[in-house]
Amino acid sequence: METAIKETIVEQCKAGKIPEEAKFIASTENKDVNFIVKEIASGRIVVLKRSPKNSKFVGIGHGLRTKLNVNLGTSSVGEISEEVEKAKIAEKFKIDAITEMSMCGDIDKIRENIFKSATMPVITCPIYQVAAESFGKNNGFKFNDGEILSMIERHLKEGVSAVVLHLSMTKEAIQKLKNTKRIDNIVSKGGALTAAYMIENNCENPFIENFAQIMEILHAYDAALILGNVMRSGGVCDEMDELHIGEMKMNRNFANKAHRHGIQVIIEALGGHIAAKNLIKYTKFYRKNIKFPLFASGPVPIDSALGYDHIAASLGAGIIAGHGADFLCCITPAEHLALPTVEDVKEGIITFKIVAEFADAMKYGISERDRVMDEARDLHDWEKQFGLAIDGGERARQKGKNLIKGIGCTMCGRYCAVDVMKKYLNKI
Ligand code: SF4
Repeated sequence: METAIKETIVEQCKAGKIPEEAKFIASTENKDVNFIVKEIASGRIVVLKRSPKNSKFVGIGHGLRTKLNVNLGTSSVGEISEEVEKAKIAEKFKIDAITEMSMCGDIDKIRENIFKSATMPVITCPIYQVAAESFGKNNGFKFNDGEILSMIERHLKEGVSAVVLHLSMTKEAIQKLKNTKRIDNIVSKGGALTAAYMIENNCENPFIENFAQIMEILHAYDAALILGNVMRSGGVCDEMDELHIGEMKMNRNFANKAHRHGIQVIIEALGGHIAAKNLIKYTKFYRKNIKFPLFASGPVPIDSALGYDHIAASLGAGIIAGHGADFLCCITPAEHLALPTVEDVKEGIITFKIVAEFADAMKYGISERDRVMDEARDLHDWEKQFGLAIDGGERARQKGKNLIKGIGCTMCGRYCAVDVMKKYLNKI
């Protein structure tokens, strides 16, 4: 390790110092800097940043705006140019973080291009690339712990802000998964790859076995640890079971250990599929038991919206974020069907921008943006409304291309309720 950091951001905050990241988050979130320092020290707020510093800092957690992540990357199909295009869309719509998950093509090149095309923090799941390279040499899951550790360090050295590691996949959990009564077993790719590696090499979880070394690597780059949500349900009929509870306890335990080492931690939970009736109950359960920021991919609350799962997931994500989840992964219309296209990613991003706005309105009340929108609406000030729209007014401009300032739209035409009332209220 070349660039060992002496004191991580957590250690600085625990020592009562005020790191520049905390000052930045305080000013962008309009919070007292002492509050930010206290919450980083306690683990309730995490700051994602690239190392060496060449990106914006993004604060995630207690008292802050709901943040969004976009998943990118090739699977066994996909092109560099498409993935880079998706990163540019994420940049255009000011998404807070990208998770790069490529498993085919020149993976290093994809990451390099994403770093060049987007300024936000980048997250990776290093076991994806280890498995992809091993499969490329026809070795299947016959790689070793050393290769996994080297890949974690390689990614961090390039500037990755956080890595997703799946510590809750143990030998005992694999046996339980074999006998589970769930309709859908597990749907976490990182979890499945970790399990296949353990079974193929007859070993325990490589991230647990090498936890001390992983702590050293993360500490050297002051990178964050994201504990993967391996046990999330793959269908709404599969309710919370002992696998969920076991994972929650394990992840909480490892999060506490990592935080004692001065490492920032985000816990993935509440992802996958959660029946609508359980959304609030489960969120309260996780929020009560976990102080660290909660990162969710989904949850989809009904399973029949295939082709429109971004809308179904937006309902689930809005509810859980409104009740305490901090960081959401944008779901696209291609979910469960295909690697998303650039257009799918754009649709997912805009949908989840609405989700984050909704969640913050639930958490913190009506936004200034909505108040100004209401005034502009009353005045038929269309340009002002377009400028305030979540997507920058792109769709609103298409739908309302003939609108004239001060005059109502064609929805009610000459019977525009706003104008009728203004005119007639003035008569009395
Ligand atoms: S015409 Fe109807 S929909 Fe359009 S601005 Fe007036 S009240 Fe609103």
